[in-house]
Amino acid sequence: MFLAEELKNIIKGDVLTDEETLKHYSTDASIFEVKPKVVVFPKDSEDLKRLVKFVDEKQGGEEKISLTARSGGTDMSGGSLSESIVIEFDKYFNHIKKVSPGPDPKDGGLASPGAGGAYAIVEPGVYYRDFEKETLKHGLIFPSYPASKSICAMGGIIANNSGGEKTLYYGKTNKYVRRLTVVLSDGNEYELRKLDKTELQAKKAQNDFEGSIYRKIYEIVEDNFAAIERARPKVSKNSAGYALWNVWDRKHFDLAQLFVGSQGTLGIITEAELGLVRNKKYSYLTVVFLRDVNEISNFVRAAMPFMPESLETFDDNTLKLAMKFFPEIAKKAKSSLFSFLWQFRGEAMMALRGGIPKFVVLAEITGDEKEEVEERLSKFHAMLNKMGIENKVMKSASESEKYWVIRRESFNLLRNKVKDKRATPFVDDFIVAPSKLSDFLPKLYAILEAHGIAPTLAGHAGDGNFHIIPLMDLTKEEERAKIPVVAEKVYDLVLEYGGSITAEHNDGLIRSPYLEKMYGSAIYGLFKRVKEIFDPKNIFNPGKKVGSDLEYAMRHIKTTL
Ligand SMILES: Cc1cc2nc3c(=O)[nH]c(=O)nc-3n(C[C@H](O)[C@H](O)[C@H](O)COP(=O)(O)OP(=O)(O)OC[C@H]3O[C@@H](n4cnc5c(N)ncnc54)[C@H](O)[C@@H]3O)c2cc1C
Repeated sequence: MFLAEELKNIIKGDVLTDEETLKHYSTDASIFEVKPKVVVFPKDSEDLKRLVKFVDEKQGGEEKISLTARSGGTDMSGGSLSESIVIEFDKYFNHIKKVSPGPDPKDGGLASPGAGGAYAIVEPGVYYRDFEKETLKHGLIFPSYPASKSICAMGGIIANNSGGEKTLYYGKTNKYVRRLTVVLSDGNEYELRKLDKTELQAKKAQNDFEGSIYRKIYEIVEDNFAAIERARPKVSKNSAGYALWNVWDRKHFDLAQLFVGSQGTLGIITEAELGLVRNKKYSYLTVVFLRDVNEISNFVRAAMPFMPESLETFDDNTLKLAMKFFPEIAKKAKSSLFSFLWQFRGEAMMALRGGIPKFVVLAEITGDEKEEVEERLSKFHAMLNKMGIENKVMKSASESEKYWVIRRESFNLLRNKVKDKRATPFVDDFIVAPSKLSDFLPKLYAILEAHGIAPTLAGHAGDGNFHIIPLMDLTKEEERAKIPVVAEKVYDLVLEYGGSITAEHNDGLIRSPYLEKMYGSAIYGLFKRVKEIFDPKNIFNPGKKVGSDLEYAMRHIKTTL
């Protein structure tokens, strides 16, 4: 019997194999194209359990089949692509089950995962845009939303350990995941959350699959406690590898933390309880113009004591691109082109005087007490003026919005609007300590320029996390051939500066081949053991995180425009 027919017999949800569907699910926001055999839309956890059991039983047969989860499909690393079965969550797993201000709204959910405060219970296929509408009704937000907030969903946010413009202040997704419900490779559903020592003992004593997972993962994290702590990337954000360093602190044990950022390679997330924070009452945006790359480290160092909620940035190439697409940006900012251009007259004069700045930084100072925020803001401006750094305070939300749209939409504009070349995220998410940026960035630009790659850079200056998005013609073999050569050089440089190859976009097809380079063979060996423990038959999203293959990835680069 054909695979799709067999699947139709075992699940209540939809099973599609028409060409249009398969084509749609062959791509995400990465540079890859991988055609699945079938796309399924499970109705409930029972469907998922049956799917897992079916795929498990089929292992060792003629056809190697596997399961790859997909929520919003905006992954930039190829994480949601598969040759086999893709499981789409946005059709049926799209319920916001609860949004609760919690017992003490002042706590705002900022406490560690598992603690009290505001929270929500959500399914993986809920789009962030819909989730935010609900949380805002209570004055709450999930503060780790990515720049793709209008197109991505909660399952991908958790599985990638996503971050965004507020991560600098609030931290990343892992900090807000309190509990996950997951389907594991034995075809059963489990709850993962922070356990104390007594609870851990009880789990380890169980004589079943769950018990064996707790025993084996405990053995890994306890036996290698010091080595794992040393391997923890010394930067503020990381999505590379499995976050073994967040599982066990010798007081608490939390397997949900291992799942966050694991890109669907350990099992399938069916529900999440997420901490929320109270939206700050007052927010002021200052746009800062840095003339030279040398200024960026000093600027970040000087800005951090003012506790900015965001320090987002984009470079001169992004700004030039934005100018080219002003009509589209004006539309996104819900403004007429004329009034949009009029709002930029000050910046135009500035550019005429001193040229286009190297970096534009969006510095957002927020708080709940008006006087306190305004005082902090005014000290911040005094500091900028003393340093001789040009800046402009945004007087209204609409004035601010034009800059936010450029920052958030630059990659989308590159993806959707440039016709003769493709936005090519392949070294798109490095992070180094911000104090090293001024030294690091010229070396990075030199590598890219030596290979004829003109990038746009945008990202999170406060964390030292930048997204490099070059425009390339991937129909040409010589352009594709640059990808592994440049990646090797860029990652060598990032690691020389003590950074991580991915702060938030995760590993997928594009970066998994470099995990051993980043962590070394011993820690990479532990990652392989983690995968074997959770998924001994390699049925969940194979080829991501461990068991990756650079040649496979290269063969699957999308070669059409
Ligand atoms: C314009 C643009 C801007 C972006 N900006 C950012 C940014 O600022 N920060 C950032 O972190 N990322 C960013 N991204 C990348 C991406 O949008 C985010 O990582 C996002 O969180 C992915 O969500 P998704 O629902 O689209 O995930 P998907 O693409 O559906 O999946 C992502 C990964 O999660 C796994 N997964 C999905 N659902 C489940 C599930 N139920 N169970 C287990 N695994 C699952 C998939 O298998 C895949 O490996 C951006 C992308 C674009 C296109």
